[in-house]
Amino acid sequence: NKCGNDGVFQKGVVTRYGALELSPSAGVLNYGQGVLEGIKAYRSAEDDRLLLFRPDQNALRMKMGAERICMPSPSVETFVDAVKETALANKRWVPPPGKGSLYIRPLLMGTGAVLGFAPAPDYTFLVYCSPVGNYFKGTFASLDLIIEDELHRATPGGAGGVKSITNYAPVLKGISKAKQRGYSEVLYLDSVHKKYIEEVSCCNIFVVKGNVISTPATSGTILEGITRKSIMEIASDRGYQIEERAIAVEELEDAGEVFCTGTAVGVAPVGTITYQGKRMEFKVGASTVGRELYTILEGIQTGKTKDDKGWIVEVQ
Ligand code: PMP
Repeated sequence: NKCGNDGVFQKGVVTRYGALELSPSAGVLNYGQGVLEGIKAYRSAEDDRLLLFRPDQNALRMKMGAERICMPSPSVETFVDAVKETALANKRWVPPPGKGSLYIRPLLMGTGAVLGFAPAPDYTFLVYCSPVGNYFKGTFASLDLIIEDELHRATPGGAGGVKSITNYAPVLKGISKAKQRGYSEVLYLDSVHKKYIEEVSCCNIFVVKGNVISTPATSGTILEGITRKSIMEIASDRGYQIEERAIAVEELEDAGEVFCTGTAVGVAPVGTITYQGKRMEFKVGASTVGRELYTILEGIQTGKTKDDKGWIVEVQ
């Protein structure tokens, strides 16, 4: 890569989940050299196949992130094969259809020892997983967001646009503060003007006004969600007009609907957004655009709907 440390990843083996042996001076521990991914595997309702949603996109995003923080990365093929092997080895733990999924976490990190500030000399790519339940238990609940205007998750020129491990610790404080006050999540504003909405700590955001669906443009401070991209395509196919642009916080006031997208949440309706003490309410429920798009996406991901787009990778 640009830092001159291109590497070859040796093929790994599937092994039991357990502690890692790591040098105290590993690059990841000292200088945050690490990128992660999140992918879900679903058990198909029809025939018990194990389905992955666009894992090649996760591989490409990991590659982009690795490049940004001076790490070599596995090829798309190596990445996808490792994800498939991990999923297959854990097939018996995948919840039955409708009950959840297998959450798969690929991790790439500098494990070589480095004391002076520099890219690590060696890297490790690993994949682990865990069964998870549905994000919303039972009913299709909605999120209550609070807009944070003191803390920011990303700045221009930083690593906000890639899935670097260093993006997550800075948002813990905002989430803890929000949860203590009864909100479900934090919506971040841009750090320059402090007026444009960016994203939630682990999902992207969309604003619906009539037939127009807008989402903040990704210009380096927002993670390019794979769900975001997929939902834009599905919505466009359904005849909605999609806009990627800067969205000022005041524009939320006359939004009909707001929803979030991400691997963990799928498409999650936003019921309220609070900003500077003012609470804005949005439409939720069965007849929303968010629900319509969720149903299509979930249908593809779980094998209920035909995968016309070739997004599903079967594990076998
Ligand atoms: N933004 C952030 C900061 C995230 O961590 C995630 C989860 N990967 C997303 C957005 C949504 O991305 P995706 O749809 O690829 O899960």
